[in-house]
Amino acid sequence: MALSDITREAVLAAIAEFDHLGRDAFLEKHGFDSSRRYWLRYDGARYDSKAIAGVAHGHLPGRSSLAAKDFSGGIGHAVTVLRRLGFEVTSEPDADPIGLQTADEIASAIGGLRRASIAGKPMLKQAVVLLWAIGRARAGHDRLLGWADTIGALTPLLETHRRDGERREGRPDYPIAALFHAGLWDLLGHTDVPRAHGDAAVRTWFAEHAPEGGLPWSVYALARRSGTARVRMIDAITARFFEDFDESGLLAAVGLYDEDVATDEAPPSGGHGRETAPGSTPENSRAEYARLCELVARRESHTYGQRRTRTVNDPLRISTARRAVLIRSGGHCENPRCAKPAPDRNDRGEALLEVDHIEQLADGGRDYPIQMIALCPDCHQIKTHGQSRHRLIPVLAQRARELHDGFVSAE
Ligand SMILES: [Zn+2]
Repeated sequence: MALSDITREAVLAAIAEFDHLGRDAFLEKHGFDSSRRYWLRYDGARYDSKAIAGVAHGHLPGRSSLAAKDFSGGIGHAVTVLRRLGFEVTSEPDADPIGLQTADEIASAIGGLRRASIAGKPMLKQAVVLLWAIGRARAGHDRLLGWADTIGALTPLLETHRRDGERREGRPDYPIAALFHAGLWDLLGHTDVPRAHGDAAVRTWFAEHAPEGGLPWSVYALARRSGTARVRMIDAITARFFEDFDESGLLAAVGLYDEDVATDEAPPSGGHGRETAPGSTPENSRAEYARLCELVARRESHTYGQRRTRTVNDPLRISTARRAVLIRSGGHCENPRCAKPAPDRNDRGEALLEVDHIEQLADGGRDYPIQMIALCPDCHQIKTHGQSRHRLIPVLAQRARELHDGFVSAE
């Protein structure tokens, strides 16, 4: 067993596992401490380099992960091996001092944002900035953007998406300063951003420094890769800022209002793909399923405050519900008389199953996983067109209820 045996593919598999589990769970599962100095940079995100190298060893055929005590993480060993494989490894102190690393931590930081209000309602500027950045991450744009381009992109959004009475002026400096102090924004190389509100200090500082900025590494990586983390961030922002304000126009404008928003990014090309979700365990799947169901329920009810009547076809809700059902299926047809594995995967690595409503929406069915089911193409055909569909549908309805209860009650 030698660290120098690891391959680029094995490292990519370890990265995918890190993304899937989240940083804390990944480090804990494999018994590594967080990096204090060396970071593997990959595709806009930052990883604990020693842990990735050790776990990559376990992705080689017939090998197991190396333990932290088995090898050195520094120059001359893990760092050198990773660089030889073409990866960028940087040396720097932990650059995210507040350290938002998981979707839970990010949602909680969003929930704690201080809101300026206008006529008793939260002003939307911080929400606009965050959603814009999440949309950029999802689209695969660079994490950081120069100050002039940031102003150019945000000003029209801030001017358009605001409450009555909120100042029309669309400068992003105040909301970005607030996000920076909450650990939700990175201003490259700066730690001395003024906090003052209502005077010129913030504006002067931004004009003088014209900082390059964007989401912190870990927030960017989750918003880019993980559909579940993305919809959780959107949900936290909606809950904190929008109340009765219809956010759908803004979500559409920043590229976060379609039926794929809860879907993970495609695995990196050149890797071996996610034939099985790496690191996925029944416990992870159940927790993720429960969270997604909760988000679906929030989007169909009025728990964001005095919520207007929701549109029937909320693409965010549909996407979240569909994602939950695919996780529940484990890649197998949920028809109990079939239970075959999906015949293939699509380019995003998802099982090729049709997620269908058991009772059609037009007939009053809910976009809620308890009455949705993942079917292989054959069973989907039968349910839609087959003569036996009238006998099949009650079987599917019962099966979906059982699967749903099994997942949720295990929490
Ligand atoms: Zn089937």
